[in-house]
Amino acid sequence: MFLALLWVLVGAVEAAVPVKGVRWWAAPGYTRVVVDLGAEASFQVGLLRGDPQRGKPPRLYVDISPVRLERNVPREVSIRDGLCRRVRLGQFSPQTVRVVLDLRDLKDHHVFALEDPYRVVIDVYGEGYRREKTFTVVVDPGHGGRDPGAIGPTGLKEKDVVLKIAKRVRDKIRRRLGWRVVLTREGDRYIPLEQRTAIANARKGDLFLSIHCNASRRRSRRGVETYFLSFTTDKQALRLAARENGVPPSKIDALQLILYDLMLRAKVEESRKFALHVQRELVRSLRRRYARVINLGVKQAPFLVLVGAKMPSILAEVSFISNRTEERRLRDPRYLDLLAEGITQGLRRYVEGATQLAGFSVFAPSR
Ligand SMILES: [Zn+2]
Repeated sequence: MFLALLWVLVGAVEAAVPVKGVRWWAAPGYTRVVVDLGAEASFQVGLLRGDPQRGKPPRLYVDISPVRLERNVPREVSIRDGLCRRVRLGQFSPQTVRVVLDLRDLKDHHVFALEDPYRVVIDVYGEGYRREKTFTVVVDPGHGGRDPGAIGPTGLKEKDVVLKIAKRVRDKIRRRLGWRVVLTREGDRYIPLEQRTAIANARKGDLFLSIHCNASRRRSRRGVETYFLSFTTDKQALRLAARENGVPPSKIDALQLILYDLMLRAKVEESRKFALHVQRELVRSLRRRYARVINLGVKQAPFLVLVGAKMPSILAEVSFISNRTEERRLRDPRYLDLLAEGITQGLRRYVEGATQLAGFSVFAPSR
């Protein structure tokens, strides 16, 4: 009887998804905590307001279920320089793991999920999270390290090309516009998606631009296109809303979806304008020296790399590395320079035209 009961309990716990680990990135006024899971799960967010008189700091907790803590996962993680002092994990009930963030203070928070592998991302922003005076652009060269990205017919790797372009963009912006530029990677390093936007948030980016090369099985496909985060169908919107609300898509109701859509729209509209300028200037720059540059236009897609970024965010697919002509061009430093020139001009035109960026007035660049 006792054994049978034990078996039932163990069975219930075994059926749950394992919590595999916890990772974090911290900066003054901002911390991102990522909880890695073995498969999809639901989450619920709760907030315990602090009591300064009793010396109790605010705490944010996230209940994830049905999950169980693996034995090798630390029950407590201390974070020295961040808004979050400590992360605690505990098996709250047989089916639920509670993740508690002990905070110094809290102004804003955002919790969402990413897939493949499934993980829950917890962003917290403190009172000290202020904008820098210097306008900051975060440039994200796609892929890197063990992830080469797309590979061209003669072996050119996307990760190498986009890093070269990003560095040229950085140099041009610093030299000509005087803005601060942060690269998400400086070398051939693998960086998970959530770390890319964590860097953008931690370094207080005003704009986020991810650079990629396109690829297609149809080798004749070529051209330039730029994406902004959005969704093109209700199904995608539903999945994104579910991802951000910690429930399966089947449990999101119509009203939630409408509210979610309204909330996103402001940011999406700024990102769309940003994408339009970069796309236009990329094509204009290439056409100065090259024939048959194809403008594939601005498109929307629910790009995971852009989820969780606090600022207008776009992803530029600067050429098709799978196309022989464009791969050859991507090996030529002059072509890379024209791409970097186009991106820089696009950034500049967008900022000149934007009276407000994410609620902050734009620092006028000295030109
Ligand atoms: Zn890519």
